[in-house]
Amino acid sequence: MSNLFYQSRQPRPFLDRGEGIYLFDEHGKRYIDGSSGAMVSNIGHSNPRVLEAMKAQMDKATFGYRLHFRTEASERLATKTASLMPDGLDRVFFVSGGSEAVESCVKLARQYALTQGQASRWKVISRFPSYHGCTLGALALTGYDPLALPFAPMMQVMPKIAAPTCYLDRDNLTDEARGLKYADLLRDEIIAQGPDTVLAFIMEPIGGASTGALVAPDSYYARIREICDEFGILLIYDEVMTGAGRTGRFLAAEHWGITPDIVALSKGFAAGYAPLGAMVARNDIVEAILDAGGFLHGFTYAGNPLACAAGLAVLEEIEREGLVANAARMGEVLKQRLEGLMRRYPMIGDVRGKGLMTAFELVSDRETMAPLPRGMNAYLRLVEIAYGNGLIIYSRRTRGGAEGDHFLVCPPLIITEAQVDEMMGLLVRSLDTFCAESGLAVEN
Ligand code: PMP
Repeated sequence: MSNLFYQSRQPRPFLDRGEGIYLFDEHGKRYIDGSSGAMVSNIGHSNPRVLEAMKAQMDKATFGYRLHFRTEASERLATKTASLMPDGLDRVFFVSGGSEAVESCVKLARQYALTQGQASRWKVISRFPSYHGCTLGALALTGYDPLALPFAPMMQVMPKIAAPTCYLDRDNLTDEARGLKYADLLRDEIIAQGPDTVLAFIMEPIGGASTGALVAPDSYYARIREICDEFGILLIYDEVMTGAGRTGRFLAAEHWGITPDIVALSKGFAAGYAPLGAMVARNDIVEAILDAGGFLHGFTYAGNPLACAAGLAVLEEIEREGLVANAARMGEVLKQRLEGLMRRYPMIGDVRGKGLMTAFELVSDRETMAPLPRGMNAYLRLVEIAYGNGLIIYSRRTRGGAEGDHFLVCPPLIITEAQVDEMMGLLVRSLDTFCAESGLAVEN
């Protein structure tokens, strides 16, 4: 028995070391980190320049409480972060992870409303399905019943609208019309809730664990921004997974030219070198709150200099190596390869994503998009087979309000074309085994 525990009993080997896109266990077995952990390790493992920067910071100081000192590492990281944001998003607040970033966005929004004399505004509308974190505040926004329902009595569960699941819709609408149809659900919900009670709307621009890299039609994004503006509601983008270059732009919001009012970042932001996240907000929101007496929020580890030194070195590495552009390029290659697999495996129902946030979904019938039977446990089984073959991918059994097995293939942004092919070789081997043991067809 180990004294340590996580969500469930899942014996895993000890991690020995990481190198680029590879991880090695205690037995010397090599794995391709095809999901960057949980879409975290964007610049790959053991980057020497990041380790150097962290060592240099360690030699100076690893902690200075923010009420006692400013630190160069946190100031420089804030400046660098703001420089990578769309115009107008200038103010940066550091946290230690994604849930903390989301909670910070919500509390900032609420305090801003108070400074504007709008105390009646407190509801934050989110989407179903969605994932925004596991602390009680972030969980109240999360649209995923298995995680949220047991804690529902302990939370102020927030209103939710359906996230677009257009690939499942059997209607005759154009993409544009479908995007508008889903966006208008926000308008309806605001009116149903009472516009003067609604504070903000939060969304993952591309759903991660929640929807498996589902991208909405372009029209969706612009219309959501318009609706928020119409009702004076703040638009929060949860870019915890999509940010820091994952989708082929630094922020996913850039794909649609959208400027949210507040953004949550984590995961790829420090790429696993330190527990770090950030909230980035409009300057006038922050100024109004500081003028009114200050932000009633802050974590002990906020702006930790070691974490910030790591974060800064990671962002510099992303720029130096052109990793955002590489994510866009390799994302196209990976998507083409996955689409190519649809000829061999009739059970691949959909391939989707942007940049290196890529996913495929398994179905029992591509025409009807009916899911595989639950008892097949495809989302667990395929991941286990792949793990045995030295390939790590990430999966969930959720799609819209229903069930379905999706698999995220999200390797580090440093991946080369040859490494994409190496990864695909392992994936094909794993799919072949899965089909053979499940009695599913393979075309030759
Ligand atoms: N938001 C999104 C979109 C996420 O994907 C996650 C983590 N999967 C979180 C928030 C929560 O981040 P953390 O686990 O670091 O608290």
